[in-house]
Amino acid sequence: MAVAKRFYRNIWLARLLAGLFVVGAAQAQSPPKPPKPPPRPAVAAAKPAVTKPATPLVSMQKACELIGGRLQSVGVETCLKSGLRPSGGQSVNGLPILWRDFAPTTRKNTPRRILLIGGIHGDELSSVSTVFQWMKELETKQDQPFHWRVAPCVNPDGMLIRPPTRVNARGVDLNRNFMTPDWKSDALAYWENRTRKDPRRYPGPSPLSEPESRWLDDAIRAFRPDAIVSVHAPYGLLDYDGPAQAPENFGYLHLHQLGTYPGSLGNYAGVYLGMPVITLELPHAGIMPSSAQSQRIWNDMLQWLEKNLPKTEPALYQRLEDHPWNGGNESR
Ligand SMILES: [Zn+2]
Repeated sequence: MAVAKRFYRNIWLARLLAGLFVVGAAQAQSPPKPPKPPPRPAVAAAKPAVTKPATPLVSMQKACELIGGRLQSVGVETCLKSGLRPSGGQSVNGLPILWRDFAPTTRKNTPRRILLIGGIHGDELSSVSTVFQWMKELETKQDQPFHWRVAPCVNPDGMLIRPPTRVNARGVDLNRNFMTPDWKSDALAYWENRTRKDPRRYPGPSPLSEPESRWLDDAIRAFRPDAIVSVHAPYGLLDYDGPAQAPENFGYLHLHQLGTYPGSLGNYAGVYLGMPVITLELPHAGIMPSSAQSQRIWNDMLQWLEKNLPKTEPALYQRLEDHPWNGGNESR
C-alpha cells in the first residue's frame, strides 16, 4: 500500500533526522485558572480504575530536565518558564502530563474553548516542539478570542525513551485506544488483519486501558472543548473529523482526509462526539517547519476557527453528557 511505503520511508527519515530542531522560547506567565470541571457524566463512571503508575510521579523540575534534554528546540529553561504545570495526569512511568491555559485577550463573544495537544505519538518530536512554539504565540498575541488548554506532550514516555516510540511505555498506540463504539468489534481485528499486528499500532487490551488516553478523555470531558487540535508528523497534510466544512489548507498543509480508525481520537471526538478535530501532520518528525511555515499554519488555523466555530451558546458538546454510551461496559 502506498501509505505504508510512505510511512516506513518517513519513519526512516524521522529516525535519521531526530534531534534537529529550531529553538523556540516561551516567557513565564502565571496560567489562568481552568474552569471548574462539570460533574462527570454517567459514561465516565464506568471507566476502569486509574492504574497505579510503575514509578512515582517526578517533579516539574525533573520533567522539564527530561523534556528539555530531549528537545533541543525547547530546552530545560524554556520548559520551566513556559507556564506549564502538572495537570494531575501522568504516564505509565510516572511522568506528569503538563498543561496550561491561555485566556482569551478579546471579549467580543463567549470564548470558544480549544484543546491543543502534541506528541500523542512519542516519536513525532516536531509536534511537541511546534506546540511549544505556538504557546509562545499565545503568550504574546494581543487579540485572540479563544480559551486554550495546551498539552504539548501527551505521551512523555514514548518521547523520552531512546529511540523514541510512537507507542506508550506499555506498547499501546494511544491514538487507537479511545472508546469508539466500534472498538470492541473492530480495533483488535483491524490491528491483526489490516496492520498485520504492527507493534506500532497496537490498540491496547481494551479502550482507555492506558493512563495517558484516560487523561485525555478526562480532559475532553472536563474542558468541553469546542475544537481539538492534535499535532502529528510526518505525513505533511491536514486531516479533519467532525461537523462544519473541513478546512482546505492551513499554510502548506493541505486537506487529505485519511479516514477513521477504531479507537482514534478523530473517530472518538470528531465522529462519535461530533466536535471539530483538526489533525495537523507536519512533514517531518525530526525537523521543525520553518518559522514562516509554522506561522502560516497557525494564522490560517486561527482564521478558520474564528469563522467556523459557533459564536453563541450552547456549546456543541452538550452531547458529552446527553449522548448515551451503549457499548462501554461490554467493551472491557
Ligand atoms: Zn502521529
